[in-house]
Amino acid sequence: ERIVGAAAEGDDQAVEAALRPKDLGEFIGQEKVRQQLDLVLKAARQRGATADHVLLSGAPGLGKTTLSMIIAAEMNAPIRITSGPAIQHAGDLAAILSSLQEGEILFLDEIHRMSRPAEEMLYMAMEDFRVDVIVGKGPGATAIPLDLPPFTLVGATTRAGLLPPPLRDRFGFTAHMEFYEPHELERVVVRSAGLLDVAIDPAGAAEIAGRSRGTPRIANRLLRRVRDYAQVKADGVITREIAGAALGVYEVDSRGLDRLDRAVLEALLKLFGGGPVGLSTLAVAVGEERETVEEVAEPFLVREGLLARTPRGRVATPAAWTHLGLVPPQAAGP
Ligand code: ATP
Repeated sequence: ERIVGAAAEGDDQAVEAALRPKDLGEFIGQEKVRQQLDLVLKAARQRGATADHVLLSGAPGLGKTTLSMIIAAEMNAPIRITSGPAIQHAGDLAAILSSLQEGEILFLDEIHRMSRPAEEMLYMAMEDFRVDVIVGKGPGATAIPLDLPPFTLVGATTRAGLLPPPLRDRFGFTAHMEFYEPHELERVVVRSAGLLDVAIDPAGAAEIAGRSRGTPRIANRLLRRVRDYAQVKADGVITREIAGAALGVYEVDSRGLDRLDRAVLEALLKLFGGGPVGLSTLAVAVGEERETVEEVAEPFLVREGLLARTPRGRVATPAAWTHLGLVPPQAAGP
């Protein structure tokens, strides 16, 4: 478990339910997505129709589940929540689809992890609001067509590129969710602090936002850890100093790097002069598995422009030297 991990864990879920924005107006950032979605939903409402199917693509913790619930609220419709891995057989999907109410929102998280037969059933359901339920086995099997009430599928995926084109094409609207800007996360933190009844000043919120890796889920989690610290070690008010000190305890640095990220970067700079160095060598140097370095630490370091993956190996960028307060060898004095 990482305090800066983007996946939901520990006590996240219980708290997140309380922190979710309830309508598009409350949803912070993602300006483009909000505008587009607002139009899609308004138009559907005016026509008295169900909204087109919506695909939400983006990294974990950026608000896909939240948006799906907002879509339901804006359409004044019930919502059913399930996920790709939960649907192993086409029959599982048929059961869900056939029990939907007219206009219901079906939220399918991790839609790229659905089984193949279920996926094929979904094509027809999305397009014609119909499924073929197969009864029996072998040569005697028959397909019984079943009409479905019109519904809106909201699919979520961390990787839209992994979706088979026939599935992708059946969504009327695709929203690409981006990482949040620090000033947007600052608003997320201030809003959550208000809901949690925590006193925070703007500099304190900015400090937490800057360390949250562009991700509201992480911002909310860091806020809770800082709240604990402010309560135990100070007067409960979150200032820049308190936020900095609290996150120092959790080894989350000023840019949101944690202990592992820093260990990888430090090894690259101090032991290998900034690279290039092979992944395996780097992993041995930090005492971690290759996969951990490659899949857990590197994506954020690359995104932050601190590390580059080149054909010759891993290379540190000038920003990496600056961030760790070190001087690159060629610039060092005699
Ligand atoms: P996953 O893919 O892991 O399921 P997700 O993208 O569905 O993640 P959510 O569960 O919707 O993420 O959001 C995580 C937390 O971040 C929630 O507590 C939610 O309140 C908060 N959050 C997300 N987006 C926003 C936003 N735009 N404004 C305010 N809070 C947000």
